[in-house]
Amino acid sequence: MIRVSSLTKKYGKTIAVNNVSFSVDEGEIIGILGPNGAGKSTLMNMLTGYISSSYGDISIGGFDLLEKPSEAKKLIGYLPEVPPLYPELTVYEYLSFVYDLKKCSLGKKEHIDEVMDIVKITEVRNRVIRNLSKGYRQRVGLAEALIGNPEILILDEPTAGLDPKEIVEIRNLIKKLGDVKTVLISSHILSEIQSTCRRVIILNRGEILMDADIEELSTNIGPNSRYGVRLTAPEEEVIPVFSSLPGISKIQYVGSFEKGTVDIIVEADKRVDIRKLLFDECAKRNWYILMITPLGVSLEDIFLQIVDKNGKTALVSPETQNEDNEKTTDFSGETDEKENLDGEGKEVEDGETYADITNGENGEEEIKNDGDN
Ligand code: ADP
Repeated sequence: MIRVSSLTKKYGKTIAVNNVSFSVDEGEIIGILGPNGAGKSTLMNMLTGYISSSYGDISIGGFDLLEKPSEAKKLIGYLPEVPPLYPELTVYEYLSFVYDLKKCSLGKKEHIDEVMDIVKITEVRNRVIRNLSKGYRQRVGLAEALIGNPEILILDEPTAGLDPKEIVEIRNLIKKLGDVKTVLISSHILSEIQSTCRRVIILNRGEILMDADIEELSTNIGPNSRYGVRLTAPEEEVIPVFSSLPGISKIQYVGSFEKGTVDIIVEADKRVDIRKLLFDECAKRNWYILMITPLGVSLEDIFLQIVDKNGKTALVSPETQNEDNEKTTDFSGETDEKENLDGEGKEVEDGETYADITNGENGEEEIKNDGDN
């Protein structure tokens, strides 16, 4: 559906996108993941024909974007990072304007009604865009992208700046659209890509570092397994005792969440079943294991591994994600981790979050405020 080969964009001496090639099949939902400045918007702007490339080819649905721009562009619905809405128009007026602009041939009223229904903005159809919340404005932007019923949706940071409830809603909407469309979505937020996409292209400094299936990536990468463990034990003894067990490569103190218990994250060589060793060791000392939870490798770990290998800069830190209302809950409930040591007494990475131990989302659903209407 989309074929990109050797795509390059230079701004003077800055190479924003460097020799990027990939293809997207019909019905795929793909995430373009990378830190700010990685070249995501530049790539998307080239794919949608907003800006020209310096080198390389883009083909959309078999149409070369340079040779057959209008045929190629007709297949694409684009939601830029900041949708260019006319704030003084009502939602319906604006979509009607977009309909005319796109020279759409479907029945006007029915089509706009259908699109408004898909993105759930029917109840605000007569409201002035200026008065809508950011989440609703984003939906109007999504509606704009859907006008003309394009086969491909290109969404640039679609949840940036939204509140947690809006994030969940927009993600669900995107997932639904992914059932019937080919979707390319860019984000610097790892959990976003993880929750909406099957495949991820990791971009850094304009180059593709990895193009892989997310499931495969999460299960296969890295030689270690990780477990979250809750046990009754004297806090000061846990790390020294477990550090001496064979196969353990890292232990991190997380906190105490029940009276008399300690939570830790244990990372060990995949070839060793660390659960049995932990069990034996605890039995010996009369400690009780109250919980062992296997923790998948997060996309964040993966990204950092890949980026480290390539000697490039790192992706967003959890702190940066907080700015986007993401992953705000720290499992430890405190920032001054008491023991932050691996088996050899070296410091381990900061930023383990509750999401790490619960292996996923961070309770975004708990927030009830809609902020609109
Ligand atoms: P991302 O969307 O991943 O944050 P961008 O595509 O916006 O990244 O930017 C990639 C690089 O290109 C950055 O170094 C940015 O400063 C540079 N860049 C983007 N747009 C322009 C422009 N119009 N002129 C000059 N440099 C630009």
